[in-house]
Amino acid sequence: MTETRKRVLLAKPRGYCAGVDRAVQTVEEALKLYGPPIYVRKQIVHNKHVVSTLEAQGAIFVEENEEVPEGSTVIFSAHGVAPEVYEQAKARSLKAIDATCPLVTKVHQEAKRFAADDYDILLIGHEGHEEVVGTAGEAPAHIQLVDGPDGVDRVTVRDPSKVVWLSQTTLSVDETMETVARLRQRLPLLQSPPSDDICYATQNRQHVVKEIAPDCDVVIVVGSRNSSNSVRLVEVAVDAGARAGYLVDYASEIADEWLAGATTVGVTSGASVPDELVMQVIDYLAARGFADVEEVTTANERLTFSLPQELKRDMKAAAKT
Ligand code: SF4
Repeated sequence: MTETRKRVLLAKPRGYCAGVDRAVQTVEEALKLYGPPIYVRKQIVHNKHVVSTLEAQGAIFVEENEEVPEGSTVIFSAHGVAPEVYEQAKARSLKAIDATCPLVTKVHQEAKRFAADDYDILLIGHEGHEEVVGTAGEAPAHIQLVDGPDGVDRVTVRDPSKVVWLSQTTLSVDETMETVARLRQRLPLLQSPPSDDICYATQNRQHVVKEIAPDCDVVIVVGSRNSSNSVRLVEVAVDAGARAGYLVDYASEIADEWLAGATTVGVTSGASVPDELVMQVIDYLAARGFADVEEVTTANERLTFSLPQELKRDMKAAAKT
C-alpha cells in the first residue's frame, strides 16, 4: 500500500508588510540612537513575539502618553493616532516619533478632506480597533463607524447625496464589499474612497490564501489574536474551502489532532509576523511527516517605506558628530 503524500502549501506573500517593517525598524533605530528606554504608545504592531523582542531590547510599551515620563521619547504605533494624541505629547514635552503606516495616514488625509467638504463619512471597521479610533479622531463630528454588514441599518446621514465610505486597512475585502453593497441599497449616491483603503498587503495575503485554501485540509495562520489582518486570514481560508483554519502565535500551539487525517496543510502569516515564526511551523510540520513544502506565489511585493522624518533627521545629525 502506498503512503499518501503529505504536503504543505506555503503562501507568498505572507508576513511582514512595508508598514510593519518600517515601524519595527523605527523602534530598533531609536533604541540604538537614543538608548533605552524608548517608550512606545500601544503595541508597535499587533504581534506578541515582536513586542516581547523589542521589550527585551529596552522598549517600554504603554497605553497612553500620560504613562511616559515628561521629556522622554515616545513612538506612536503603525496603526496611527488621533490628533489629540499629538497634542497630549506636546503638552508633556515628549519627543514624539510617528511610526504610523503611510497607508493609514492616507486614510486619515481622506477623512480630513471629506470632512472639510462637509461629507458624512461612513468608516467601515472594527469598533475599538486602534486604527479606527485614530482615523475617527481626525473628524469625529463627520465620521460614524459601520462595523460590518450588520451595522448598516443603524447608519443615519444628513444629506444622502453627500456621503462617502472609507475603511480600516486590514479588513476582509469580501466582507467590506458586502457592507458597501448593503450601504448602497440604502444610500444609492454613496461615494467610494478615491483609492483602495484596504491596503495592498492585506489584499495580497487574502488573495493567496484564497488560492491555496480549496486544496487544504487545514490552514494554519501565524499571527496574534489582536491582529485584525491575521484573524481575517483564518476566516478567508475557511470561506474559501479549507476544512479548518487555526491562528497560532507559535508552532508550539499547534495541536496534533488538527492534523489528524490531513494530507495538505496551508501555512501563511499576518502582516506583523516575522518569517522565523513561520519557519518554525514548517519545521514542526516536517517533523510530523509534512516535509514536502510547495511555495505558492501570487504576487511579489517590493514596496518599502522610509523611516519617519524626525528619526532620520536625528540619525543624520548623529552621523555627522
Ligand atoms: S497592514 Fe497595510 S496598512 Fe497595516 S502596516 Fe501593513 S501596509 Fe500598512
